[in-house]
Amino acid sequence: MKEFRIERAKRLGQLPPYLFAEIDKAKHKAIEEGMDIINLGIGDPDMPTPDNIVEALCETAASAENHRYPSYEGMFEMRREFSLYMERRFDVRLDPATEAITLIGSKEGIAHLPLAFVDPGDLVLVPDPGYPVYNASTVLAGGIPHAFPLPADNDFLPDFDRIGPQIADRAKLMFLNYPNNPTAAVADRAFFEKAVEFARKHNIIICQDAAYCELAYDGHKPVSILEVPGAMDVAIEFHSLSKTYNMTGWRIGFAVGNREIVSALGAVKTNVDSGVFRAIQYAGMAALRSPERTVADIMSIYAERRDTLVDGLQSLGWQVPKPKATFYVWAPTPSGYTSSELSTMLLKETGIVTTPGIGFGRNGENYIRIALTVGKERLAEAVERIKKVRF
Ligand code: PLP
Repeated sequence: MKEFRIERAKRLGQLPPYLFAEIDKAKHKAIEEGMDIINLGIGDPDMPTPDNIVEALCETAASAENHRYPSYEGMFEMRREFSLYMERRFDVRLDPATEAITLIGSKEGIAHLPLAFVDPGDLVLVPDPGYPVYNASTVLAGGIPHAFPLPADNDFLPDFDRIGPQIADRAKLMFLNYPNNPTAAVADRAFFEKAVEFARKHNIIICQDAAYCELAYDGHKPVSILEVPGAMDVAIEFHSLSKTYNMTGWRIGFAVGNREIVSALGAVKTNVDSGVFRAIQYAGMAALRSPERTVADIMSIYAERRDTLVDGLQSLGWQVPKPKATFYVWAPTPSGYTSSELSTMLLKETGIVTTPGIGFGRNGENYIRIALTVGKERLAEAVERIKKVRF
């Protein structure tokens, strides 16, 4: 009989290589050796989902009407709640029926959007460094990612003038992400005005990923691109309940913006998923109706952690700026180390897991990302361990 061969589609081979293999190997070895690991590698909150949200799930999960297929675009009440949030928080008024869609986490929407707009060979502008899904989803749709740098000396914001017309005119989509993972940079209204102008000039759809827009410190209030006049013509904005309400495991997020863009994303979704469990949507509504102090309390915990870590590292001579938003610290590597070398060395010598910046793109090479997703005592302990390392 002929040998049966399993051949993966070529597009899977085009996905970027898995850059964390070495650090993963070192992590498993350290765990096997019984090392006390401090995991600052993943952007997954360690705190529990607030009780009011869990209670809303429990109350609605038992009801048989919620056990059936939900609608792919989300319950109308849910989309209305998203719109109320956008109005309350950003003064952006939306039509919940056409300008908002529920997602199975924002990653799902980000991953599906290129399928709605990108034809084989089309360019997609992706930030470098950036959340790897922008690249991967472009490749899976047959598009070509074109990286644009986020230079440190421009506060990790792209310079639109440096994206030449020969590239810009061929691009279908541009991903932006502020507050930013991994750099923790923030963008103001003036920046989004420039983005909208650039999009109009070159006919590019802007996909702004606002997954961290509620995670800000010291009174800073991130803005929405949709606040900018004309943004509703060119943009879609992705939001997530994951990080704001410690709900990463629940899988709920949403996208808002231009109705044709939202509708095209919906056209993909009708064919590939069947929406979010209704009880989780009720929990999502409860999350957005939480008292303001819920997020404020979470942020004051992250602020203490940030200060413990950044003050500690600065006292050791590290040039680490304090982030204005997100739960990440983007730390330049001491000279002589690549990001992977530093992460691997820290793990072997101290048991601290960090993410090498190269995993987010070439321009991440001289940095490591440190997530504030453990308690402040453990972060203080991490600083103590780093103190003993000879660089
Ligand atoms: N966008 C960014 C920048 C992220 O870092 C993440 C998760 O780490 C996501 C989107 C996806 O979040 P979720 O799918 O949980 O909403």
